[in-house]
Amino acid sequence: MQEDDKFALSGKSLAELTDFCRELGLPAFRARQIHSWIYSKWVSSTDQMTDLSQAIRDKLKQVATISKLKIAHLQISKDGTRKYLFELPDGKLVESVLMSFHDRPTLSACVSSQVGCAVGCTFCATGYMGFIRNLSAAEIVDQVMCIQRESGKRVANIVYMGQGEPLLNVEPVIESLAIMGESVGIGARHITVSTSGIVPGIRRLAQEKLQITLALSLHAPDIETRQEIVPITKKWGLPELMNSLRDYAETTGRRVTIEYVMLAGKTDSPEQAKMLADLTADIHCNINLIPYNPTRNPEGQLLYERPSLAAQQRFKELASRSGKTVTVRLERGTDIDAACGQLHNVFDQARKD
Ligand code: SF4
Repeated sequence: MQEDDKFALSGKSLAELTDFCRELGLPAFRARQIHSWIYSKWVSSTDQMTDLSQAIRDKLKQVATISKLKIAHLQISKDGTRKYLFELPDGKLVESVLMSFHDRPTLSACVSSQVGCAVGCTFCATGYMGFIRNLSAAEIVDQVMCIQRESGKRVANIVYMGQGEPLLNVEPVIESLAIMGESVGIGARHITVSTSGIVPGIRRLAQEKLQITLALSLHAPDIETRQEIVPITKKWGLPELMNSLRDYAETTGRRVTIEYVMLAGKTDSPEQAKMLADLTADIHCNINLIPYNPTRNPEGQLLYERPSLAAQQRFKELASRSGKTVTVRLERGTDIDAACGQLHNVFDQARKD
């Protein structure tokens, strides 16, 4: 069998592995053994599954492979952040990031949910790619497993903040959340799904009543600016969006996170900080401010400027007035374009290397 036609084991649920084994004429307990080799021992070859007979291993080798994600490029930042460019079986590329923090012992992985993105945020490098295709649940989960196999380190937290809008690929994302919990072993409270504000997706996710954190990339408290920098949101007005968020928090009992990118002269005015405080006053949420990270458009121009530290501080104080906790995001990996909005910046360069 050609490599491309083989069944990828990593990223699959136990039920999928059980179905696969059944098709091979193997009993269910073989699926549990394979599941354990993939998710507990992070093996990179079926040859390492030593509690399977040689005949089963030979059979597996013919029809299955551990993973179909290939690491096309790996960059390691001065702060230890690792950015992976993965090649999918159809040659498409997605990026994932492994982040460590000096004040925490645990590692966080940022995963992609789509190749490219249809949302088109004007400050985001991925937005310039346009939408290419959705990732399957297994392709999303396997990013985390590939990172663990490559780095030898256990991932404790996952953020769905890489390429793509997770809630425009909502069913595979929901499926992947289940596998992250049941197979990878990462509890829902250690997972954040970030959305630009896809109202039907927020309502669909709420039905699952998961204990994950939902993060809304609000980025502007007035409809005019928001529609300019997050164009897809023209479909849903701010009242409709904030209602869906309020309902989400009530249904799940979980505090949501409001993400807000501070662009100098565009979203960092004192008036906008006060509007942000008003807009979020009756929503069970925290606010996370993200000082803009330098991003270039395809012509190589810098898209926006970063506000001064004084402007950031002033904005934070005003946005806190409604009593919400407001934090400024700690950045990781800016020297390798792995920070928010920078994925895809090195896309062309990595292809050339
Ligand atoms: S910020 Fe997120 S939603 Fe917006 S274009 Fe980039 S990847 Fe898509």
